[in-house]
Amino acid sequence: MPKIVIAIDGYSSCGKSTTAKAVAARMGYGYIDTGAMYRAVSLFFTQNHVSFSNPKDVQAALDTIHISFKHNNRTGKNETYLNGLNVEDSIRTMAISNIVSEVSAIPEVRWAMVAQQQKMGRKRGLVMDGRDIGTKVFPDAEVKVFMTADTTIRATRRQQELLAKGSLVNLSEILANLQKRDLIDSTRTESPLVQADDATLLDTSYMTIEEQVDWVIEQADQRLAELHRAGK
Ligand code: C5P
Repeated sequence: MPKIVIAIDGYSSCGKSTTAKAVAARMGYGYIDTGAMYRAVSLFFTQNHVSFSNPKDVQAALDTIHISFKHNNRTGKNETYLNGLNVEDSIRTMAISNIVSEVSAIPEVRWAMVAQQQKMGRKRGLVMDGRDIGTKVFPDAEVKVFMTADTTIRATRRQQELLAKGSLVNLSEILANLQKRDLIDSTRTESPLVQADDATLLDTSYMTIEEQVDWVIEQADQRLAELHRAGK
């Protein structure tokens, strides 16, 4: 059986990461949350007072940043490490959500992250979620999904997620953050958020996570069957 790459792109809080993680587990594939990488860079920039507008400062900071993922057997989660420190919780705060799109629009940041992501997926057998996976990181991904959902439904889901972590955030604040991130992500010059020509659109507004996972797995099965028929 050949190993393929499954690229899941789309707007914030459509359920991309939860779906991607479950698909990877069911297929026995690796999983990379590329949003976590941009969040980790944003955390580093904040903690080290890196000036976003100075390309030299940005590059110097990027040269010292090492991002990795480690599986936590206790939580069952793949957790994000920044220079050896577990930053899984600190990258998910509203403070980071408020600056991450600005940081991820910096070309130097994108070039560094895309290069790392391509290296991580060299052996294929991977589910990767983000904004530019099917267009920029793996334009040759065998399965490409572009997720969208009603904005208010997305904001409500995000609010529940934050609440589960003990943080109560106003719905209007979350809504404003999602809309701002969507706008910056879709209009930046370097690899903007856009549906790849060969990606299939999935509206998750009224779908459960299980339905989303089954839908992606079906796409992957169909693709694998096609590859098998083609003798690949
Ligand atoms: O997926 P998540 O919402 O955690 O991503 C946070 C932010 O990281 C996005 O709003 C976007 O600005 C940026 N991002 C990106 N490219 C990716 C993944 C995330 O620009 N591949």
